[in-house]
Amino acid sequence: MSNSFVKFDGVQKTYDGEHLVVRDLNLEVKRGEFLTLLGPSGSGKTTTLMMLAGFETATHGEIYLDGKPINRLAPEHREIGMVFQSYALFPHMTVEENIAFPLTARRVSRTEIRDRVARALDMVGLSRFAQRRPAQMSGGQQQRVAVARALVFEPKLVLMDEPLSALDKQLREQMKFEIKRLHDELGITIVYVTHDQSEALTMSDRVAVFNDGRIAQLDTPAGLYERPADPFVAHFIGENNRLYGEIVSLEDSHCTVNCNGTLIRALPVGVRNVGEKTMLSLRPERVSLGLPADRQENTVNVQIRQLIYLGDHIRLRASTCGTDDFIIKIPNSATWQSALKEEQVISIGWRAEDCRALPHADGAAI
Ligand code: ADP
Repeated sequence: MSNSFVKFDGVQKTYDGEHLVVRDLNLEVKRGEFLTLLGPSGSGKTTTLMMLAGFETATHGEIYLDGKPINRLAPEHREIGMVFQSYALFPHMTVEENIAFPLTARRVSRTEIRDRVARALDMVGLSRFAQRRPAQMSGGQQQRVAVARALVFEPKLVLMDEPLSALDKQLREQMKFEIKRLHDELGITIVYVTHDQSEALTMSDRVAVFNDGRIAQLDTPAGLYERPADPFVAHFIGENNRLYGEIVSLEDSHCTVNCNGTLIRALPVGVRNVGEKTMLSLRPERVSLGLPADRQENTVNVQIRQLIYLGDHIRLRASTCGTDDFIIKIPNSATWQSALKEEQVISIGWRAEDCRALPHADGAAI
């Protein structure tokens, strides 16, 4: 038996009858999982979430919740809690009344409402604010009220659409950990939408990376970072160096790529033929300098264009293999600070397995 709690089965969506904004979605969310839909604006994340909530209907395919098809089930019967970017609180109600609303609507008894609202307020650390109105609270506090309101009726599933994007950076950091803590403590299933990779990587068990109405990759945060499946994901998640070249030899676990005359050993990921154009993807922190560089499978000389001190690490921009934008990140140390100079030529190295050769049809920069 499948342990999926939410299942999208061949789901498609078009708004205008012509253009598919969700192309062929097959996605399973496990019970208790924190799954994030991550992708650029317009890639179909919100549409997917709204079909799950019941505010949009799928043009094709079926959505299942807890084993039951829900395409024809009205939103209010889906037992799903929602948190939006705009907190969507009722301005004329107190915090307590806002949180009580889903319970009042469900005709829960007055004593039970009192207990549950008190618990929800406690959960988000707002017990002292029960009698305030939304306008008398900060953005972060209002969003906590919205979270408490989404959780108070103990929904099967909680959906969050960019819930932190209206908050300033510091509050966002704090709320990230608070939402994650609530998820872990309550054991609820969360489907979360964001375009912010740091939110996705910090909070999620798994992340579905959306690109133009399709899932480009579904994986754990570490999996996405370490093993991007295509150039889009490699580009979208974290920083990476992109080198363009052509496959000159190909074995099962390794390949050799000619990048502007330099031969680079790499891990083939989806490339199939000698002569094929490829994009090499290499994280800036996987490059070593000095003695360790010489012991790596790939060693090249680069010219330093720019040195930037960033407190805990040093960032170098260098020219090599046909690019002037090769980025290297090394931990800050007194030795490196005095040894490195702009315009200097240095030797760098990296392991073949840290360098992924991805398919890249036209070999041009994306
Ligand atoms: P995301 O959440 O990834 O930014 P959306 O799901 O909001 O993406 O949008 C996907 C595409 O569908 C976009 O091209 C958007 O313009 C279009 N779209 C979204 N909502 C509607 C709507 N109600 N009517 C028509 N087109 C829409």
